[in-house]
Amino acid sequence: MDAVEATKLLAHAAAFDNRKPSKAASIAWAEALKDVPADADAFGAVARFYSKPSQDGDLDGTRWIQPHHVRQLRRQIRDDRIPDGAFTYPLPTGSETGAQFIDRRRQQIAAIADGRIEADPIRQLKGGPHPSVADALAGVGCMPDHVREALADALPGRRAREEGRLRGDADALAVPCPWCHADTNNACKRRRGARGDRPGTWFHRTSPHPGRVDAAAIAARPCPGCQAPMGVPCASSDGRFYDGVHPARQTTRPAA
Ligand SMILES: [Zn+2]
Ligand SMILES: [Zn+2]
Repeated sequence: MDAVEATKLLAHAAAFDNRKPSKAASIAWAEALKDVPADADAFGAVARFYSKPSQDGDLDGTRWIQPHHVRQLRRQIRDDRIPDGAFTYPLPTGSETGAQFIDRRRQQIAAIADGRIEADPIRQLKGGPHPSVADALAGVGCMPDHVREALADALPGRRAREEGRLRGDADALAVPCPWCHADTNNACKRRRGARGDRPGTWFHRTSPHPGRVDAAAIAARPCPGCQAPMGVPCASSDGRFYDGVHPARQTTRPAA
């Protein structure tokens, strides 16, 4: 907002707190809020500030709105329009890249925050495939369990891989490890005894690094939580990449 708009916003605040208009205040507010538009939500932020009871830090219950309150409450107003749960994004159009998808998702989130469109919550799909189909699918490419168990004890990292498979996790060893740089199909590694010039000795870890588990989930499937397509990292509702993956993406098993 510029100084003219800040003057209007301050006049709006004055209706609540009887502050005196001043050119210096308008300039200071415009400077502090130069990246915040003077839209209905900015005015709404003032109303929201004065509709709340006093909190610690207010002198004797005297409320006095500051630019940072406008910034914070305007964001809150906009965030309130974005639903907590997952919501749908427009379907990918033809040959859309991951970056284009993320860009489109940001625009959609901004439109929901503006109140220009309404979020369309994802409806839970009920039921699954027919039991006979599920049974047939479960048997595809399966090694008998006693063979898997025997192998699990023989090779490092194999047990964790098998346990992950039984949980419905994506196969962590199907991708290289971004943390220790273990190759695909090789167990994660750690080094012991490295000091100064001594290179130490590498050992196989029995379980994959957590970052590799996330990387495998990202590579293996789209996210039911944030709708990130296969191969694209999870993002939070403000469009920023998420550290790790949403729990729903970690396993193909529905939550009990
Ligand atoms: Zn690793
Ligand atoms: Zn996600």
